[in-house]
Amino acid sequence: MKNNLTLEFEKVYGNTPEYHFFCPGRVNLIGEHIDYNGGKVLPCAISLGTHLLVSKNNEGLFRFRSLNFEEKADIILANTYTKTGKDWFNYPLGVINYLSEKHKLQGLDFLFYGNLPTGSGLSSSASIEVLTAYAIDQIFSLGIDKLDIVKVAKRAENEFIGVNCGIMDQFAVAFGEKDKALELDCDTVEYTAVPFKLGDYVLAIVNTNKPRKLADSKYNERFTECRTALAELQKELKIQHLCDINSVELEAHLDLIKNFTIAKRAKHVVSENERVQQSIKALAADDLSTFGQLMFASHDSLKNLYEVTGVELDTVVDYCKKNPNVLGARMTGAGFGGCAIAIVKASKYDEFAEGLDKYYFEKIGYRANIFKSGAESGVRNI
Ligand code: ADP
Ligand code: MG
Repeated sequence: MKNNLTLEFEKVYGNTPEYHFFCPGRVNLIGEHIDYNGGKVLPCAISLGTHLLVSKNNEGLFRFRSLNFEEKADIILANTYTKTGKDWFNYPLGVINYLSEKHKLQGLDFLFYGNLPTGSGLSSSASIEVLTAYAIDQIFSLGIDKLDIVKVAKRAENEFIGVNCGIMDQFAVAFGEKDKALELDCDTVEYTAVPFKLGDYVLAIVNTNKPRKLADSKYNERFTECRTALAELQKELKIQHLCDINSVELEAHLDLIKNFTIAKRAKHVVSENERVQQSIKALAADDLSTFGQLMFASHDSLKNLYEVTGVELDTVVDYCKKNPNVLGARMTGAGFGGCAIAIVKASKYDEFAEGLDKYYFEKIGYRANIFKSGAESGVRNI
């Protein structure tokens, strides 16, 4: 039986798609705001993501269609491409632009469909970029290394779209593994897959539907504050990054940091880095409840010390703290909106989602969206 997406493709292009690929989104399980301080992050790929149905054409065109957006584009094959406007097809076009530097491509008819909320911090942009690069590599048997797929996708986001993101998002959606999280050093791109078995639990993802307006400016502010903290500590300590010391060492040298707010930022970074390592140990021992406690502690630190949460994210986590079927919860991503994650007893998921929906609506005045996920594998053929 033909699935709905195939029927949609036939409706748009008048023929059956030759290929079907899928790329997930991602969440960072723990380790927030430490990637730019020499710390490791712990993302996993999720169940939601982006589908791509695609066929070759002989018309010398890249045709871009998405079931999520009305805008469409037919772009004539060329050696290089430039971004036009702000429309969604610039994401795949950026990937094609950089792939075209080394590879000769032919015309393709693309149909994208994503069930990830866009602009909510689950990395729908990394998903569509990695998906496009992976698909083109498969279709034309280009033999591109997976890490190079990640790099070309990141380059499209940085240089073509103009968003200054690190490598975590593209890496996680490409290298994700089922029931695993990735302990990733974003500077060296070294990683270890660590067990993340949910057993009787699910990973709930809660989109607060609060636009992340403040995220960019506050990100830059936090970045600068961390540099200040580091410079002050370096007067006595031979360190390169804040994450090179532990909480005991920080406490012993805290008087070097003159400003109270800057000291709080450093405390978050150093303690969050420790929580990542404690989480990895807990997960390796199948101890989800300790991991859950570390998630709550991470959120509290992001709220009180790093000050990047906000009433919407805090409301979700407050509800989770009161619910006996939740082991842990925290904001994920840059903060100020976007999504929170929670570890919820699978048999009580519906009750959890219903209760949270009501609680959130009463406190905030609009709804959150709640999704059920696991840790899934990265970009793949369907
Ligand atoms: P996030 O990565 O947090 O979801 P971004 O603003 O970085 O948010 O990226 C969202 C953009 O990515 C969308 O506005 C759109 O341009 C593009 N995009 C993501 N998914 C799709 C899709 N299924 N179809 C078309 N464009 C998409
Ligand atoms: Mg994005």
